[in-house]
Amino acid sequence: MSKPTDGVIYGIRLRTEYEYRYIGLTTKTEHIRLRQHFKEAKAGRKTPFYDWLRKQDRDAVIADNLDWVYGLEDLGRAEIAWIAYLRKEGQPLLNLADGGLGPIGVIWTAEMREAARIRSTGRPGVSRFGEENPFYGRTHSASQRAKWSVERKGTYQGEANPNFGKFGAAHPRFGHAMPEESRRLLSEMRTGAGNPNYGRAASAETRAKMSAVRKGVPKPSSRRSAHTRYHTNKGVVKPSCAYCVEDLAKQCDPESEG
Ligand SMILES: [Zn+2]
Repeated sequence: MSKPTDGVIYGIRLRTEYEYRYIGLTTKTEHIRLRQHFKEAKAGRKTPFYDWLRKQDRDAVIADNLDWVYGLEDLGRAEIAWIAYLRKEGQPLLNLADGGLGPIGVIWTAEMREAARIRSTGRPGVSRFGEENPFYGRTHSASQRAKWSVERKGTYQGEANPNFGKFGAAHPRFGHAMPEESRRLLSEMRTGAGNPNYGRAASAETRAKMSAVRKGVPKPSSRRSAHTRYHTNKGVVKPSCAYCVEDLAKQCDPESEG
């Protein structure tokens, strides 16, 4: 490109897949820009796109020239249009923004990005929820999920887990209780058909094992004898125990037995 006001809209995808993962604009060629993207990924830039790019083989990723555009303003508009179009098509774009040159019509240089990165480092992250999230209402493909599963297998195990060996007050979850609403949702999720054991019965073999483990462990033979052993004999009264309630009702009756 001789004039820096013209450029291309490019789409980045895996060579083997026809879904674009990122749409960008550049006043250079899409090949040069892809090379820069790899550099930035290597430098550790943290965005969904760069996180994705870091995991790919260099040869597996290509950039397609989607559009030639003349004039910076049109370039920005074209990028917005391409991103909107592909999102509508359901393509799994990792772009954080909707594209365009922004309010000041500037294409960011690597230096400007680096300066902004330093400014924003340590700032609390911005999570976008619900419809605001670019991935709202979509799901990852089975092949993508399988790939992540393999990648994550064995990570954060044992000492690699940042919480390894942390107990009590040292653990980041210490003193945090799950909100009542979340507890209710989890409970509903796991009730009835949602329970992994729903409709399943232990095999004869498993039952035999469980029985063997419990053999010889003294156990009340009924709720009533549990009540006698743990409540009456120890002077405990539990409102959740039907026999305790019964006893309370019969307290005046000398015939009542625990
Ligand atoms: Zn009782």
